[in-house]
Amino acid sequence: MTSIDSNKHKKARALKPTSRRPAKELCSECGLCDTYYIHYVKVACAFINQQIGELETQTHNRPRNLEDENEVYFGVHQDMIAARKQEPIEGAQWTGIVSSIAIEMLNRGLVEGVVCVQNTKEDRFQPMPIIARTPEEILAARVNKPTLSPNLSVLEQIEKSGMKRLLVIGVGCQIQALRAVEKQLGLEKLYVLGTPCVDNVTRAGLQKFLETTSRSPHTVVSYEFMQDYRVHFKHEDGSTETVPFFGLKTNQLKDVFAPSCMSCFDYVNSLADLVVGYMGAPFRWQWIVVRNDTGKEMLNLVQDQLDTQPVMSQGNRKEAVQQSIPAYDQGVTLPMWAAKLMGVVIERIGPKGLEYARFSIDSHFTRNYLYVKRNHPEKLEAHVPEFAKQIVGQYKLPE
Ligand code: FAD
Ligand code: SF4
Repeated sequence: MTSIDSNKHKKARALKPTSRRPAKELCSECGLCDTYYIHYVKVACAFINQQIGELETQTHNRPRNLEDENEVYFGVHQDMIAARKQEPIEGAQWTGIVSSIAIEMLNRGLVEGVVCVQNTKEDRFQPMPIIARTPEEILAARVNKPTLSPNLSVLEQIEKSGMKRLLVIGVGCQIQALRAVEKQLGLEKLYVLGTPCVDNVTRAGLQKFLETTSRSPHTVVSYEFMQDYRVHFKHEDGSTETVPFFGLKTNQLKDVFAPSCMSCFDYVNSLADLVVGYMGAPFRWQWIVVRNDTGKEMLNLVQDQLDTQPVMSQGNRKEAVQQSIPAYDQGVTLPMWAAKLMGVVIERIGPKGLEYARFSIDSHFTRNYLYVKRNHPEKLEAHVPEFAKQIVGQYKLPE
């Protein structure tokens, strides 16, 4: 059910935000319910009404091709490339392609505002969604706030401001709800620049992750699970700390991820026009997925600022994924020497490029499928999209 009765819209405006979260424990705090658009929550919420298929057709003018493995995994797309900025933006999560596209769009008058997320003065990891109207405000939103962020909480301001052309930057659950209410926003043109997203956490969960994993949790300025199978922490003094994935204290971290993220199957942000991540690209490169003509228009704006190369794929993920399913399920944690050794071996012979992305998608989808099956069995059939069922179906899962 994608269509929203626009006659109800006036009534919706009368409703003020409440602290209600109809998705209950599965809520990802996307921000929709902080606005009068909460009226649409039962249709729009990614965790109440999974409708990726319908919204893909609405957004990209065609469904995902389930006969094509790349579309099954990465969604509707025209093109995929690996890229990095020739002159990276200092302090960006990667090289700052996201911030650069947003700045170009604003500078060239394609949009009047950009929904993005800065942090609060007190806490670099506490998200503070804003509608940026200057390049400086966009730059101040660079780098991930690796926590659930209520990006859509600014939706009411859009209508009040009279803006007609808008860019929204966000992760999958935010974008699904946004697409569902898109027609109600009164915009002439909406651009959506997405990032992939997985394993997000609450602010308290982030603290636990940092304290369990980093040698100096309070000096971490950013971190990333990189393509070399290590978590890279950047610290305030500019140093980088790496921890092998296989050395993570899985037994302590099992409950740290938000229940919304444990039941999410939109890792690759299927409904954005353009997606900028890293996981389908070689180590240290960013990965760009152009989903439709709007995404192409956005990427063209920064093409001359980028070095690019074609995407590549190497290795075979399947056995590694199959072995990791029971290991994760039982919370197996390796001693650090064994984790480091395994990290070195898998970095040499393990999957790379698009195969690394498939490895990550397979590992997360099988884990999440088990989570939904065990914790919300009544939702399983409708909540898991067809493409994800196809992916999970390749593996033998424990009960
Ligand atoms: P920058 O120019 O630094 O801009 C970052 C942008 O992210 C900013 O505009 C900001 O508004 C936005 N942002 C920051 N925090 C949030 C948030 N919590 N919610 C929504 N928007 C936010 N890529 C992968 O390939 N695989 C992953 O598993 C993966 N996980 C991610 C998890 C999270 C929570 C986020 C936010 C991103 C994730 N990404 C992932 C994307 C990747 O980490 C980079 O954000 C992306 O490559 C863009 O880098 P950049 O240097 O171009 O971004
Ligand atoms: Fe509301 Fe978003 Fe939470 Fe769903 S995920 S209940 S739409 S705030």
